[in-house]
Amino acid sequence: MHIPARRAGLRAALAAALLAVGAATAWLAQADAPAAGANPPSLDGIALAAPNAAAVTVPSAPDAWGGIRTGDHATLSNRVVSYNIAAALDPVKHLIDGRQRLTWRNRSAVPVRSVYVHLYMNAFEGQGSTFFTEQRQRGEGFRSGVDIGDGEWGHIALRGVRQGASTVPWRFVQPDGGPATDHTVARFDLPEVVAPGASTTLDIDFRTQLPRVIARTGYFGSFHLVAQWFPKIAVLELPGERGATAPRWNAHEFHMESEFYADFGSYDVSLTVPKDYTVGATGELQGQPVEKNGMLTHRYVQHDVHDFAWTADKRSARPLVETWTGPGSPTVTVKVLYPPEYAASARPAMKAAKDSLAWFSRTLGPYPYRTLTVVIPPYNAQEAGGMEYPTFFTASGHAEVAPNSLDEYALEGVTIHEFGHGYFYGILASNEFEEPMLDEGLNEYWDTRMLRERGQRLHPMPGWLQRIGIDPSFEAFDVVRIGTPRKEPADAPGQNAWNRLDGIGPVYMRTALVLRDLEARIGSEAIERGFKEYYRRWKFRHPSVADFREALADGSGARAAVEETFARQLYAVARVDDRVAEINSEEVLPLAGTRLENGRRVEETQADLDKRIAKLRADWKKANPKAKPGSGPFPYRTQVTVRRGGASVSQTLLVRFADGSREVAAWPAGTDENWRTFSWVKPAKAESAELDTRRHHYLDVNKLDDSRTLANDGSAARRWGSDAMVFIQLLLSLIATV
Ligand SMILES: [Zn+2]
Repeated sequence: MHIPARRAGLRAALAAALLAVGAATAWLAQADAPAAGANPPSLDGIALAAPNAAAVTVPSAPDAWGGIRTGDHATLSNRVVSYNIAAALDPVKHLIDGRQRLTWRNRSAVPVRSVYVHLYMNAFEGQGSTFFTEQRQRGEGFRSGVDIGDGEWGHIALRGVRQGASTVPWRFVQPDGGPATDHTVARFDLPEVVAPGASTTLDIDFRTQLPRVIARTGYFGSFHLVAQWFPKIAVLELPGERGATAPRWNAHEFHMESEFYADFGSYDVSLTVPKDYTVGATGELQGQPVEKNGMLTHRYVQHDVHDFAWTADKRSARPLVETWTGPGSPTVTVKVLYPPEYAASARPAMKAAKDSLAWFSRTLGPYPYRTLTVVIPPYNAQEAGGMEYPTFFTASGHAEVAPNSLDEYALEGVTIHEFGHGYFYGILASNEFEEPMLDEGLNEYWDTRMLRERGQRLHPMPGWLQRIGIDPSFEAFDVVRIGTPRKEPADAPGQNAWNRLDGIGPVYMRTALVLRDLEARIGSEAIERGFKEYYRRWKFRHPSVADFREALADGSGARAAVEETFARQLYAVARVDDRVAEINSEEVLPLAGTRLENGRRVEETQADLDKRIAKLRADWKKANPKAKPGSGPFPYRTQVTVRRGGASVSQTLLVRFADGSREVAAWPAGTDENWRTFSWVKPAKAESAELDTRRHHYLDVNKLDDSRTLANDGSAARRWGSDAMVFIQLLLSLIATV
């Protein structure tokens, strides 16, 4: 997903600037629902994942999820589910009637009598859902904080659930202990047990009322972004998978800041919409749409994905369609759907999407699908933007996309980010509820590397200032650093999506910075090998944080550094805050007093000494007429004291001297010292002392105090200092645009 605006997400802040609220729709009566209640044990005794489940520490078994997908299998993924859905859209009432045949395979060694099904759309049925309860408790909304107005709620009703000829009884449950009024998870108690290894087929009729665009789904006018719209079965995890020690259902409620997790399988979805609507969806269109009674039925099929989303709009401009080819990938048809008001966004989005295809294919592994659909939501539907689904994602709309503008950075940044999810989340299908860092965090890191490599910088100044030469710009990791909590980080990036003091933002930013600092430590090639190994082992499976750690440790060959980073900054969180506390550099002068000379005690008074020093200085000046200040007949003693206000990290101290010489000292990690004083006696006076000259520690609270100067020359401090000045300007300019 795209970053929550109120949580320091720069790009989301830009997107939020374009947001507005409006429109109303007719309320629709909900179908009868069974009584809610507590969570009685399921008929087969299979437990649910705990509400506080988070970063897994134990690596999964080698045969987890059917083992590594080597490419020798008949299918890309080890398919567990198949969805055959026929859905019709009423674009006036924003209502979808669906018939779904769901086939689910019991991978476990135990008979299954109950299955859990996500009904995500019920998060938007009223203020009693877990989603809205969490908003109230935190006193803030999701991302841009769009509210649902009267008549704009969304919901999903199950109108019939059958297993063969038998009706399936079902009930709402709250696996995370949310309010009984949360209806985002249902438990089906199956009349017929599903034997180990066997499959069952469920026929489900449902009706989905879309909300006015909120939290990534809904309608605005004739625009429909249809996501999390059908009953989706939860994941049954087996022992040895993501830390499970017994079969367990992973079926969390729809939390305000959580995303999704589902089995791989096949989707065959027929979408019936009025014939003047442009449609886009996950997967490949099968043949020409079929017309009947002024409606067109578009059939899309996609295998080896774990979700299905689509869009329909009668205001769409003619889509932009191009193809992309790359080594190991099928020819990919790339389609950009956009409204007329954002025509300027279509070409930049296409280019960013194709650049992303090339970059991710090269750095992780070939793109395995034949389609990629990019949707630019219309004006007033921005909250549908910045969200990923398999082979399909939404970007952001901009009326103008000038070179080096904030609009360009936002549009290309969001396009690259949402594309990146096609790998992190799409192909590497981690659990976004429990381990969001594997999706948003790793994606943010890998996208930012792509921005860095393509030389994309953020130019905060408006065009008219750029034209008169006021055009500071920032490298992408500096932009990420601004949004990262560093002073009092509260949440480990490995924490789950909802149990967080600082919200979901740090999952993106802090994870990216942790990995960036690890990259600085072990080298870019090593971390690239680690990520390639992660992709090789875990594509089309569901890796955990522990699986990522092992792949990174093995692939990079830097196990010790990887394990230390995970222990300190991913499973936990620690402030990093080193600084140069003091620098002084003084001449070492002869000292007054008495001494023994040829057996006699002689005294040199301070007055005599001053005379001798003055003479030595004068002689030296005569002999060295062009000497710079900071040198002379006497050596200098330089002392630099460094202080540590957080975790012990490996530091390098660089001291520059007036004669151009330098001294470098290591302050290794792993000591208990809160401070250390380094000293040198050299012919020249020191000018400056600086920690972290190679920029290994972007997590550091404050880079400005990493250096101190003695002389007027402030070169050591200038780099970070000027950054900070411009950061302030950047923030001011952002406030001006929102
Ligand atoms: Zn995202």
